[in-house]
Amino acid sequence: MEIREEVALAPLTTFGVGGAARFFAVTRSEVDVAQAVAWAAEHGLPLFVLGGGSNLLVRDEGYDGLVMQMGLAGIEDRGDGLFDVGAGESWDGFVQRMVDAGYAGVECMAGIPGSVGGTPVQNVGAYGQEVSETIESVRAFDLEAGEFVELAKDACRFRYRQSRFNTEELGRFIVTKVRFRLCKGGTATLKYAELWERVSAAASQPASLAEVAKTVREIRRGKGMLLVEGDAEIHTAGSFFKNPVVEAEMLAPIAAAAGVAVEKIPHWPVDSVGSEGRIKLPAAWLLERAGFVKGWGEGTVGISSRHTLALVNRGGATFADVIRVKQEITERVWEKFGVRLEREPVVMQ
Ligand SMILES: Cc1cc2nc3c(=O)[nH]c(=O)nc-3n(C[C@H](O)[C@H](O)[C@H](O)COP(=O)(O)OP(=O)(O)OC[C@H]3O[C@@H](n4cnc5c(N)ncnc54)[C@H](O)[C@@H]3O)c2cc1C
Repeated sequence: MEIREEVALAPLTTFGVGGAARFFAVTRSEVDVAQAVAWAAEHGLPLFVLGGGSNLLVRDEGYDGLVMQMGLAGIEDRGDGLFDVGAGESWDGFVQRMVDAGYAGVECMAGIPGSVGGTPVQNVGAYGQEVSETIESVRAFDLEAGEFVELAKDACRFRYRQSRFNTEELGRFIVTKVRFRLCKGGTATLKYAELWERVSAAASQPASLAEVAKTVREIRRGKGMLLVEGDAEIHTAGSFFKNPVVEAEMLAPIAAAAGVAVEKIPHWPVDSVGSEGRIKLPAAWLLERAGFVKGWGEGTVGISSRHTLALVNRGGATFADVIRVKQEITERVWEKFGVRLEREPVVMQ
């Protein structure tokens, strides 16, 4: 494993901002991972695990430590619908392979960029499926214990866009492999209304996994959520703000501030433990009513012309530009509605 110095990080992320890594290594095996961990510890340097860089912002000053890019490859068919997948594999490549081979369980998550190892971190999900529904276990290097561990699904503590990997034990585990349990010959999941409508109108009945994955990609493309080479808005990190969870009593003041009836505000109950009586609001709805519509912004960073929640680097943006725009949006939404928006992409630190 080669350790390089001063490696530019912006091209390794989809948003494309920020400086260089002081040290940089690509880890292609678990031995490499253990060596990189030991090297960083010996040199007293912090360590950051980089996957596909699709949910990541790099600061303009770069990273004063070792950035380990996860390069562990391999998709191993263990039979009975079980697959062990290297954390460095492309997520979308894995989905396509499963769809082609007739395994159900991940077809609605076609077109999500990034690595397989990045998916359990934020419990990736889209169009009616979440990766935690098909994860059997995660293999990782535990920096606290100094050894590789196998974490069964329950031990990963998956919630909406969360797991123990990106919350209470952020930075503790380096995911090296993910074991999925898929269903050979299973039918596609059609829980998401827009997907169901489009598939029912166009596809044979019942819709094949391939038709569903293709439709998901088309929907994503229409919303600027599929990274397509040559697209003017390719430099994005997907949704930039999480859908906020607020007390149900907040609906009345929000409706008054927006000048609409309470019934007109889209919202869903939150069913996780500890969140009883709380509701989730679409961040895009709040943004639009605070004046942040598709295509908003005149500088290097603005809102996607196809997706209100996605900020895009229109060329030449810096991390500081992103933060300035993020502040403007979050402050105006706070002033208008009293709701605090949280950023979804991770800042490398
Ligand atoms: C156009 C677009 C559309 C998107 N659509 C969706 C969507 O529909 N649903 C959704 O959930 N997300 C979506 N995302 C966000 C993103 O694709 C996912 O979060 C993805 O799983 C991130 O994986 P990554 O490998 O790129 O991680 P990175 O961006 O490289 O890293 C993100 C975080 O995960 C950590 N990490 C990555 N790999 C590992 C590992 N092996 N071990 C430990 N930690 C690790 C990093 O340290 C960092 O903290 C979208 C992004 C874009 C750009």
